Amino acid sequence: MAAAFAGMRNVTPVTFRAGCPDCRGRFELAASALRLAIGATSRTTFYSFVCPDCGSSVRKPAGERIVELLTGGGVRTLRLHSTL
Ligand SMILES: [Zn+2]
Repeated sequence: MAAAFAGMRNVTPVTFRAGCPDCRGRFELAASALRLAIGATSRTTFYSFVCPDCGSSVRKPAGERIVELLTGGGVRTLRLHSTL
């Protein structure tokens, strides 16, 4: 899939281990499969992905270290503001 673009940039492909609470599947996700939403507080900061096994949308809280890890790995980051 993304292999065709490998080598275009000096970016080390990063995968993140994740688990699905619905089907209890465990898998590795590429950075492009993850989304990170940073809210005003750590309570509104989370990452989300779609389970490749059952298609369920999974959302998990992201602590500071996870945020660092994900942003450093090139995960798309969305900064939440009080627009709701
Ligand atoms: Zn699942």
